[in-house]
Amino acid sequence: MALDEIIISRAIIERYHEKLTENLETDVAIVGAGPSGLVAGYYLAEAGKKAALFERKLSIGGGMWGGGMLFNEIVVQSAALPILEEFGIRYRKYQDDYYTADGIEAVASLTSCALKAGLTIFNCVTVEDLMMRPDRVEGLVINWSPVEMTGLHVDPLTVCAGFVVDATGHDTDIVKVVDEKMPGRLNTSTGGIVGQKAMWADRAETDTMQNTKEVFPGLYVAGMAANATAGGPRMGPIFGGMLLSGQKVAQSLIRRLDQTS
Ligand SMILES: Cc1cc2nc3c(=O)[nH]c(=O)nc-3n(C[C@H](O)[C@H](O)[C@H](O)COP(=O)(O)OP(=O)(O)OC[C@H]3O[C@@H](n4cnc5c(N)ncnc54)[C@H](O)[C@@H]3O)c2cc1C
Repeated sequence: MALDEIIISRAIIERYHEKLTENLETDVAIVGAGPSGLVAGYYLAEAGKKAALFERKLSIGGGMWGGGMLFNEIVVQSAALPILEEFGIRYRKYQDDYYTADGIEAVASLTSCALKAGLTIFNCVTVEDLMMRPDRVEGLVINWSPVEMTGLHVDPLTVCAGFVVDATGHDTDIVKVVDEKMPGRLNTSTGGIVGQKAMWADRAETDTMQNTKEVFPGLYVAGMAANATAGGPRMGPIFGGMLLSGQKVAQSLIRRLDQTS
């Protein structure tokens, strides 16, 4: 049978349209497809919650592809090994409590498992603002990343969400919106974004877990965004905290969603 270009185009348009309209209302909208966002999406979807993830870049994986200084090996401490195992990511012992895995295999496995669990991922979509009512975050304002990059004057669309997770890494792009529009209202020591401190790997891994929480009604933070928001130190290229933070935010949200249903 001869292939028809119009059928190919129609298939892409209809399937994408279906995916987008089905996710205009969701339990949890995650922003950022780095390790913490992907892990959060996986555990939420596994628990039967509706979750959609929005990533600015064309590629998924955030800062995990490049390991440390583009050496594409990641280091993970023993506490996070159960997560590597859950996702089928192979690892090798380097010495007691230090394990390594291939960064490419890690991103590919996190992405594949999250999608198969039921997470929907929208790449090349930038979250530029939030829906607020007015003291609670109620959803996202989204636009194509090329619109943002080229500075085109194009209005965005919106996604309604029970909860939003800022997993945008150091940028804390989503928390910044609340900080700018409702100064002094964040659940941090100053009421604002405290900003990331200098490197201290051991301290930072513990802090990341403590800082993974709701920082404004309806808005949670995970991964490096959690540390940057609360003022924790950076940890260098060790990824256990990112994975565990994604798992923790998912567990907290599953409990919240179960309470409200
Ligand atoms: C300056 C810098 C310093 C770093 N320092 C450390 C460090 O100290 N320790 C460490 O472990 N790692 C560090 N990294 C590497 C990396 O950020 C982390 O290791 C890890 O990848 C963070 O995971 P994450 O899940 O928090 O977010 P990331 O992997 O950073 O992923 C965040 C994702 O969010 C997306 N995003 C951002 N804003 C938006 C938006 N508005 N809309 C949609 N998507 C958005 C980004 O494109 C990205 O893909 C650093 C990276 C940079 C750039």
